[in-house]
Amino acid sequence: MAAPKRIGQILKERGLLTEQEINLSIEQQKITGDLLGETFIKLGFVSAPEMAKALSEQAGMPYLNLHEYTISEDALKLVPKDVAERVGFMPIDLKEGRLTIGLVNPSNVLAVDTATRLTKKPPETYVIDSDAFYDLIDRAYYFLENPIQLRLKNSVDKIKASENITADSISDMARLIIMDGIRRNATDIHITPEKQTVHVFYRIDGVLQHGFCFPKAARSGVISKIKIMSELDIAEQRLPQDGSFSFPFLNKSYDMRVATIPTIYGENLALRILGNAGPLLRLSSLGFNDTDTLKMQAIFKKPYGIILITGPTGSGKTTTLYAALRDINLLEKNVLTVEDPVEYRLSLVKQTEVNPKAGYDFALAGRNFMRQDPDVILLGEIRDEETARIAIRASITGHLVLTTLHTNDAITAIPRLLDFGIDSFMLSSSLLAISSQRLVRKICPFCKTEYKLPDDIKLRLELSGVAGHIDTAHRGAGCAACNLTGYSGRTAIGEIMVIDDEIRDHISSSASLKTIKELAVGNGMRFLMEDGMNKVKDGITSIDEVLRVVG
Ligand SMILES: [Zn+2]
Repeated sequence: MAAPKRIGQILKERGLLTEQEINLSIEQQKITGDLLGETFIKLGFVSAPEMAKALSEQAGMPYLNLHEYTISEDALKLVPKDVAERVGFMPIDLKEGRLTIGLVNPSNVLAVDTATRLTKKPPETYVIDSDAFYDLIDRAYYFLENPIQLRLKNSVDKIKASENITADSISDMARLIIMDGIRRNATDIHITPEKQTVHVFYRIDGVLQHGFCFPKAARSGVISKIKIMSELDIAEQRLPQDGSFSFPFLNKSYDMRVATIPTIYGENLALRILGNAGPLLRLSSLGFNDTDTLKMQAIFKKPYGIILITGPTGSGKTTTLYAALRDINLLEKNVLTVEDPVEYRLSLVKQTEVNPKAGYDFALAGRNFMRQDPDVILLGEIRDEETARIAIRASITGHLVLTTLHTNDAITAIPRLLDFGIDSFMLSSSLLAISSQRLVRKICPFCKTEYKLPDDIKLRLELSGVAGHIDTAHRGAGCAACNLTGYSGRTAIGEIMVIDDEIRDHISSSASLKTIKELAVGNGMRFLMEDGMNKVKDGITSIDEVLRVVG
């Protein structure tokens, strides 16, 4: 990494690092011997993409998020892996005989020379982050040399042809299903038996995609294999079970959560891949609009009170909470969390994980956190009355409490908490803000096109309460860079209700939700649909995406 001392200054100037954090990193670096730049990343003060963006600006070379890009096989085939690794660059694309390469260090002249020598043309260069580089270089070459889809097809053919299915072919199939999920950056894998075959689906960027299907003869073998890996009872097929296991793959370990359910065609299995979470973000890079971002930054700086993040599963609530923690000065504030499960490891935060078998749940954690001299408490989720009461009590006794709730919009969090038996006066005096959010896929920048909206979509927008003043929108046509989906990466859309004195009075006196909503709108609150439509107008996402997640 170039000039570590200077990068610290650059990051400080950009407001990404404080003097205190630099000093602590220097202390730690004396013990570990790591580079200072690496230490900033290891301590979580700066993320690898943030570091890369700072380097990119300094060098005047554009930044490319490799996680949102499908690496071209032609480019990989041209550059041997050991060359790419030794010289320190990632072959990304090959167009008209010219390579596109990604550099962790923008002043890597050797990489430019190597690419020029290989193609006789100077390469197009991008800055990429070190996490993406180390994560993807192994993966990209592994999948190039081991084409998973071909191996899956062979595996299916073998099972189809043989009368006695061997334990090896079953084992192979189970591993390939999981590896294909990792390759596709899926968050979930579903193994779904039907009448004649078994279908495998992958959830990618929030949307299910059909992977492939295999013969029913292999169903119980594959399901049993994964149940054994998860330490579940394979004899029990009539009741739901859940378990977990760790899947080592290319120097990384992926935590898997497994849940079964008996369907009429046999056991259905849902597998969540936890190691596939994206990089750590900041409140300013989640995708919220500027006004809402400023509101959130101000609220997370409050010394006490409760902040609720709402939204369905997979709406990015945890990412928002982690981003908020990164905006808190962890060198001056004691932060404790209880999560289910811990999805990112943060330095200097006391993270704990619920353990139902041992009896460690949100409520028990919350009660005991009070004896740990806390400033900020993160309770993963309010699911019951007791946790709700503990959260409120902690927030009115001088602590900042961050938590999530499953509601469809911000405002319904109020009746939900009242349903948990929380007194309306207590609620009104502790609540700072409620936000609600969804994740939408971003249109692929490489194949984005504008089109005229058809009448039926215009009608749907009118029915959803959005004034029909949009005539055109954008969508992705599908290209190699986005794997023909038309999308790459995701961003948040959100709404945030800040509780001011007037709204506080109305919550306390049990005013109707309608009244509270009107007050919030008067204060400038914008709803999810509106925020989504603004992102459509800006060409960030498509109408289909907004309608898919908000309706
Ligand atoms: Zn595309």
